[in-house]
Amino acid sequence: MRPRSPQTALLQPRRSGPVRGRYFNTGRGPTLQPVDIGHRDYIGLVDPDTAFWALVRKERLGGVLTDGPFLRAYRKKAAAFAAEMDTLRFGLRPSAVYFNPTDRCNLNCTYCYIPATMRRGGVHMSSDRLIGALAILRDHFAATLPRRAKPQIIFHGAEPLLNREAIFAGIDRYRKDFRFGIQTNGTLLDDGAIEFLTSRGVSIGLSLDAEVERAASRTRKTWGGGGVYHKVVRALERLRGYPDYSVICTVTRENVRRLPRIVDFFHGLEIPTCMLNPLRCTRQGARGIKPGDREMSRYYRQALDRTEELYRRTGRKLVVANFANALIAILAPQARRLMCDISPCGGGRSFFAVSARGDMFPCSEFIGLEEFNGGNLFRDGIADVLNGDVFRKVTERDVDDIDSCSRCAIRHFCGSPCPAEAHEMNGGMRRIGAFCEFYEDQTRYALRLIADGREGSFLWNDWDAQTTTSFQWETASLKAGQ
Ligand code: SF4
Ligand code: SF4
Repeated sequence: MRPRSPQTALLQPRRSGPVRGRYFNTGRGPTLQPVDIGHRDYIGLVDPDTAFWALVRKERLGGVLTDGPFLRAYRKKAAAFAAEMDTLRFGLRPSAVYFNPTDRCNLNCTYCYIPATMRRGGVHMSSDRLIGALAILRDHFAATLPRRAKPQIIFHGAEPLLNREAIFAGIDRYRKDFRFGIQTNGTLLDDGAIEFLTSRGVSIGLSLDAEVERAASRTRKTWGGGGVYHKVVRALERLRGYPDYSVICTVTRENVRRLPRIVDFFHGLEIPTCMLNPLRCTRQGARGIKPGDREMSRYYRQALDRTEELYRRTGRKLVVANFANALIAILAPQARRLMCDISPCGGGRSFFAVSARGDMFPCSEFIGLEEFNGGNLFRDGIADVLNGDVFRKVTERDVDDIDSCSRCAIRHFCGSPCPAEAHEMNGGMRRIGAFCEFYEDQTRYALRLIADGREGSFLWNDWDAQTTTSFQWETASLKAGQ
């Protein structure tokens, strides 16, 4: 990975010379861009390079920018914030693997990124080979991560439970070495599988796109076109009370208007965490059901507001993890848990994906795109693959180099996802992805919540357990923090 970063140097206060950085936006002073967050009383101020933010009462903006104390306080911290952002963007090492134990899937979802030929007739990894692969990964992480760190293996799909015997053998063999998770379509999650996974503390992710069968079956269906709604809901009912499970709802044109009803349904099932993910448009099949950005934003915000109402009424949260992550990206950038909204994204940088043949890709989203196959786990050194030309195409995609994003004040809250989408849909890594206006709206909404002190309703209770406050400034006219 390439060394960085120009910003760190730029923000170092100079001890001598003609320019001391006393003023904002000129000389060596901090860059603070006003951002319209759509709030009646507050306007945002963002340093796009460090992701530092402040919310200022509109009538006090001029005073805040020209009065000394606030700018002086920020100037003292700016170099440290730039260094933190630098580490987050360029200094991480992979600590997780999305592991596909099979190419095959029993479903044929409209938006799947894995080619149909692979899902129908691809390979299963044998138990011996899977155990061998986990041994290779264990040894790699033992050499690259701090001693107490426990890397994560997420069995992913295609449908991992089609190769249940192999993954269960791997989990039992390496429980001490890894934290395990599984992302499944839920159709094969019977009592035996649930007992095995929950008794071993495996985190479980399922997929469900609507609160009623007819709508859910439009996008997630069997090869024969049948729905799987009842099977998935039964699995969700069996998981009630287990602390570590979640549901992904992929948002398409088919279900976008239902989002508020979907969160009602999930909350009623006592699901602790869900994701309302705008569908990735990497594959042609997905692009035909892409919701418009404006429509997506409108119903997404309504759904989030609804989770807050439900929390107020019942005292029980349904955390929308992708939005919680967007909030955390603002409040404490280093504490974010998902890595699509930082640039370069987490693909190949904080995790990578392994296919059923052992081929390594920067992220599952690239499985099926042969030009992003970086090498084979059984044949090539992991470090060589991570640093090789193929992975670097993704790990060096930098929002600062993307025309439409490089001047965007919120680029380090958004990250300009997704490289796979940009490459396949818009023709190159230096192109924008599919949902710019939606991401813009999401950040503005998040800043409005913070201005109103409402953000706690949308976050996990323990989200800040391992964070420390490095900047706090709260007066009648201004709020800022990190
Ligand atoms: S995708 Fe849009 S919102 Fe995100 S960084 Fe680029 S211009 Fe900004
Ligand atoms: S932005 Fe795309 S490639 Fe990057 S981690 Fe997210 S899904 Fe993977």
